[in-house]
Amino acid sequence: MKIKRLEILGFKSFQDKVSLEFNQAITSIVGPNGCGKSNVVDAIRWVMGEQSAKNLRGKAMEDIIFNGTEYRKPLGMAEVSLVFSTEDGRVPAKYLNFTEIQVTRRLYRDGESDYLINKIPCRLLDVAELFMDTGIGARAYSIIEQGKIGMILHAKPEERRFLIEEAAGVTKFKARKVVALKK
Ligand code: ATP
Ligand code: MG
Repeated sequence: MKIKRLEILGFKSFQDKVSLEFNQAITSIVGPNGCGKSNVVDAIRWVMGEQSAKNLRGKAMEDIIFNGTEYRKPLGMAEVSLVFSTEDGRVPAKYLNFTEIQVTRRLYRDGESDYLINKIPCRLLDVAELFMDTGIGARAYSIIEQGKIGMILHAKPEERRFLIEEAAGVTKFKARKVVALKK
C-alpha cells in the first residue's frame, strides 16, 4: 500500500480544501516555521485513527478543527482523507478489487465523528484492521517523528517487541485472539 493522495479540509491550519499528491518515491514538505508542515503529518496520523489529542499536539480532540484567524471564522468540522494505491497487492483480500482505498475521518465540534472506507461509513476497528501488520497506522513505525529513534533504542524489550510483531505480521492475530477470548 502506497500513499497516493491526502485531502485536508478544516484540519488545524488548513481552512480550505487542500489536496497533496504523493507521486514520486520521496516527497518533501518544506516551508517557513509555523506554515503547517507538521500539521500535514498530524493529519495523516489522525485519519489513521489516532485517539490521543496529545499525540496530535493538542489538549482536546476539538483542537484539530480549524480555529479561525483574524480574517476567517472557525469551522465546525474537520475532514481528512488518505488515499492508498493497491497496485502492489499487499492489501487485505476484501480490498483487492479496488484500485485505491480511501480512508476518511470527520469530526464535528459537537463531538460527533465518522470514519469511512471508500466513502462507506465504518467503525474505527475497520480502519485499524486495514492497517494492521502493514507497518502503517496511527501507532506503527511508518511515522518516525523527532526523538522516535532514541525512544526505540531506549525502549524496554516488551515495548520493542510491539514493533517487531507489527513488522512480522502477528498484530492482527493477537488482536483477534483478544476478541475471541472475550467471547
Ligand atoms: P516548524 O517549522 O516550526 O516545525 P511547522 O511548519 O511544522 O513549523 P505546524 O506546527 O505544522 O508548523 O503549524 C503550526 C501552525 O498551525 C500554527 O500557526 C498554529 O496556529 C496553526 N494551528 C494549529 N492548530 C490550529 C487550529 N485548530 N486552527 C488554526 N490554526 C491552527
Ligand atoms: Mg514542525
